[in-house]
Amino acid sequence: MRHPRTHVWKAVAASAVGCAALSGLRTAAGRPVRSAPTLAATGVGIAAGGLIAFEWLSPRSWLYGPVFWHAHTTERVVALTFDDGPCHPYTEQLLEVLDREGVRATFFQVGNNVRREPKLAAEVASQHAVGNHTLTHPHLVWSRPSTVREQLLRGQEAIHDATGALPSLFRVPHGWYGPQVISTAEELGMRCVGWSVMAWDWDCPPSDVIQRRILRGIDPGGVTLLHDGKDTDAFPMADRSHTVAAVPDIIWRLKANGYDFLTLPELMALEAHDRHPR
Ligand SMILES: [Zn+2]
Repeated sequence: MRHPRTHVWKAVAASAVGCAALSGLRTAAGRPVRSAPTLAATGVGIAAGGLIAFEWLSPRSWLYGPVFWHAHTTERVVALTFDDGPCHPYTEQLLEVLDREGVRATFFQVGNNVRREPKLAAEVASQHAVGNHTLTHPHLVWSRPSTVREQLLRGQEAIHDATGALPSLFRVPHGWYGPQVISTAEELGMRCVGWSVMAWDWDCPPSDVIQRRILRGIDPGGVTLLHDGKDTDAFPMADRSHTVAAVPDIIWRLKANGYDFLTLPELMALEAHDRHPR
């Protein structure tokens, strides 16, 4: 069954179009632009259109359906997530850091990168949680449901072939969810995941900047976004050395502030337990 909010967005979109048309028709008919009904229709149209656009571009989409991006908890726990891998040699380096620190994380793998590095993908999955990040890392916000479905299914296939795992989590490339993305993921048994704090590390800022951005934005129940790879076309041009260099310090400082590290499925289970205590 579809989530009720996957229908609400249609009403918001209809309001945006209807109000824009109404204010246009009134103005064309010679009614004063500053008359109350025209101003009201314009205002509602702009607000509804703005909401539609914001929800497209937000990794925390609400209107188009549920996206998990932060746990409601006061416990000092966070989930570290890494996107776009596996990617040699950065994923191996990250695995070493996480292993040394006794931290389990969540990796959103791109199907074509998994096909390129199946052993590395399997190594990740043997120690950490793995999510689906499509087959080729496209922008899906304008895509037809059939294209979304194809990307998700072929991503699942690649991950399953390499690791034996079948992800139940999906993160859309670039963080832009459309309603068809969320409903298709749900139909395929996957929950959509965003993040609460990121470091713009795809631009390769210095590692101390990456560290500062993450630590400044983190709070209990937070989900971080960093990258151990790059989308499939860019391979082998990815440089994730700054991200890898930032992670040990991020972990140490969070540990010093009393934080524990959970995988995303663990963080989701904690929230579910907190909301429905036995
Ligand atoms: Zn990505």
